[in-house]
Amino acid sequence: MISTQANCTDIYESGLLPVNQAVTKIISALPSIEGYQVINIEKAKGRTLFQAIIAPFNVPQHNNSAVDGYALNAKDLPTKGYASLEIIASAYAGKPFSENISAGNCIRIMTGALIPDDVNTVIMQEHVELTDHAITIDNRHKAGQNIRIAGEDIQQGAEVLKPGRFITPADIGLMASLGISEIKVKRKLKVAIASTGNEIISIGDINSGSSTYDSNRYSLYAALDRPDIELVNLGILEDSPEALLNSFNQASQMADMIISTGGVSVGDADHTKTALKQSGQVDFWKIAIKPGRPLAFGHIDKSVFFGLPGNPVAAMVTFYQFVLPALESMLGIKDKVIAPKIQLKTTEDIRKKAGRTEIVRGILQQQPDDSWVVKTTGKQGSGILSSMSMANAFIILEHDRSFVKAGEMVTVQPFAGLF
Ligand code: AMP
Ligand code: MG
Repeated sequence: MISTQANCTDIYESGLLPVNQAVTKIISALPSIEGYQVINIEKAKGRTLFQAIIAPFNVPQHNNSAVDGYALNAKDLPTKGYASLEIIASAYAGKPFSENISAGNCIRIMTGALIPDDVNTVIMQEHVELTDHAITIDNRHKAGQNIRIAGEDIQQGAEVLKPGRFITPADIGLMASLGISEIKVKRKLKVAIASTGNEIISIGDINSGSSTYDSNRYSLYAALDRPDIELVNLGILEDSPEALLNSFNQASQMADMIISTGGVSVGDADHTKTALKQSGQVDFWKIAIKPGRPLAFGHIDKSVFFGLPGNPVAAMVTFYQFVLPALESMLGIKDKVIAPKIQLKTTEDIRKKAGRTEIVRGILQQQPDDSWVVKTTGKQGSGILSSMSMANAFIILEHDRSFVKAGEMVTVQPFAGLF
């Protein structure tokens, strides 16, 4: 018989859903979001490409000089001893020289200047002996040297960026270099967020002492404040099936996703269950994770629904572990290069029980020898929001792992890139 009460033996409880399986179930149940927007590249940072970016021309477009020097035909390179060539003109970046250059002649050429048809080799200015109108060179030069070849960076017709690319500043520069000003990006996702609980009050309200200020809506609002998301604030909902039903039904008419916090733990969950039984298909899971064991997930009409635990740390941890991957999957993000998980040494022991994933708040620290290590923020209670605020990384202790000793390697997910 599975205990429904959370207690200190609950890790021995069977039927807890491992984190990886929960993520897989969530991702496979998500609807795909159609629709795109055409925007200027200036506004594209943090959006997801809906189209492929194809190079309309070679980069560089033409052969050009990689250095300041003298351009000549390789036939005039001496095989032994020295050769002298007459300088007949100059070519600059943006001011090409396009007339003929006869054998035995060369031109002065600056970095970035186009290579005229009759020449194919550039000698660095430091490697010539310069007299009035001529240069003398030795026999140590190679045909074709010091020239950037057309298309050596990007070939015309090449797929430079793929659909699903999460657009970075470098990508925007790359598109600009190809003369592209407007692109198709995935449309924004509309996400509605609510807090629940009769004890929860808004900042600005007077706290008689028995109430709790709503922090979840603020931390989640900030976590969701991104260029690819449009937020709808549903406020604080009272613990009654009617209030929840009413608000979630309205939200499901306009939002791609509804996220609520609180009201999913044992006892409390009844209101949410009663409400959701009437309006959608939502499962109530107990996940093998600490903090954040209870999680409701499913659909209300066409909206995806997440019911996160009310404890402020549990709400944030489950947001980053379950909701964020879901959002990024719905946005079609396939190619995001900025949220790595890395292995680092912990400088302290960490208590851990096998049989659940533990997400510990950590602080990355640089050592005198410049290497990085990680330690915990101290107390790890799921109500201690200051542990999230002090942290700059999650330490992810895997399902099967037990007590971690100082000096062992642990998986670390830095907040930089995640937030
Ligand atoms: P629940 O999951 O509703 O049982 O809530 C668990 C704990 O988190 C309770 O102590 C709640 O008062 C607290 N809590 C729930 N929602 C919030 C919120 N929006 N902001 C701050 N604390 C909350
Ligand atoms: Mg509650």
